[in-house]
Amino acid sequence: MMKKSTLDTGVRKVKNVDSFHFGAGSLDQLPGYVETRRTIAGEQGKNDSVVFVIDQFFQGRDEILARLGTKAGDRIEFVSTALEPTTDGIDRLVSALIAEGFQEPAAIVGMGGGITMDTAKAVSNLLTNGGNAAQYQGWDLVKVPGIYKIAVPTVSGTGSEATRTCVMINESTGLKLGMNSDHTVFDQLVLDPELTSTVPRNQFFYSGMDAYIHSIESLTGSYRNPVGDAYSRETIQLCRDVFLADDMMSPKSREKMMVASYLGGCAIATSYVGLVHPFSAGLSVVLGLHHCVANCIVLQAMEEFYPTAWAEFSAMARLQKISIPTGVCAGLDRAGFEALYRASVMHEKPLTNALGDDCMAILSFERVSRIFQKM
Ligand code: ZN
Repeated sequence: MMKKSTLDTGVRKVKNVDSFHFGAGSLDQLPGYVETRRTIAGEQGKNDSVVFVIDQFFQGRDEILARLGTKAGDRIEFVSTALEPTTDGIDRLVSALIAEGFQEPAAIVGMGGGITMDTAKAVSNLLTNGGNAAQYQGWDLVKVPGIYKIAVPTVSGTGSEATRTCVMINESTGLKLGMNSDHTVFDQLVLDPELTSTVPRNQFFYSGMDAYIHSIESLTGSYRNPVGDAYSRETIQLCRDVFLADDMMSPKSREKMMVASYLGGCAIATSYVGLVHPFSAGLSVVLGLHHCVANCIVLQAMEEFYPTAWAEFSAMARLQKISIPTGVCAGLDRAGFEALYRASVMHEKPLTNALGDDCMAILSFERVSRIFQKM
């Protein structure tokens, strides 16, 4: 009975984003949303400047940047996606914003993929809650609402636009975990499938599979939420439509993928992931592999636990001519596998969701190492 509490962290109580605007060309709605927040801040006698956190990919792409509703006095931060967010990196950005007078901007806009959106969410929470990012890694530790936050996803799959978390790597503890909180949820989304047309094909596949994998893990877990299950089933169906289609990046497919990402995020906000994400976190922490490609590498080695999803995933990758990296753990010594083991098995909740209370007995060091060796 005692173990039951492992999965009892309040995810039955669900907070969704307040509002979203969906459809090709939706980006042109963003200036209106931003202006509304400036007006509200102005009426309260506050600074009406806005912080834009934007994927570095868009730096210099003036045809896009000109459509965001920026004004003189705003702060634009281009985020490198070379590395996933770290608690130290988030703290540095927050300190810089405060030093430059952006303690309480009228809004924060996060435009990009999971890394950029998670950065925007973490900064928003920290500006109002104070302290360091690492203090809030966990469940329901954020005390007060963050700065009003708007997401403009430009890569689909992670579901960051819908979830109540923002994942960060704490390099000193090896913990990859987010601020799981209702306050982390975006206030407004602008979902414009035109923005995903420039995503490289490999990245489009890896990121899209994150939505598929979230849903597979939720549906095979022991902690079930009927609403989450419905989101998950539809997410999987949309992913099939996209990745079993001839052209996964047609306008229609990209539109479906954007919906799948959002619904997959809603699904995971009401449930837990399973085995893939903890192992994937191990690859990110120890080898620096990005979340979405790491998930694909892990699923490719997880036939024994997810035979049906493994077969379908393999067929999708073949059809789309996407190669999943192999041999990523080749050359690791015992200390390397021990580090992978530690960084994976620390994720007690998803592992319990997948394998029950005996998860640690099932996941011996030898068995976990064998799985990593297959990657
Ligand atoms: Zn994920």
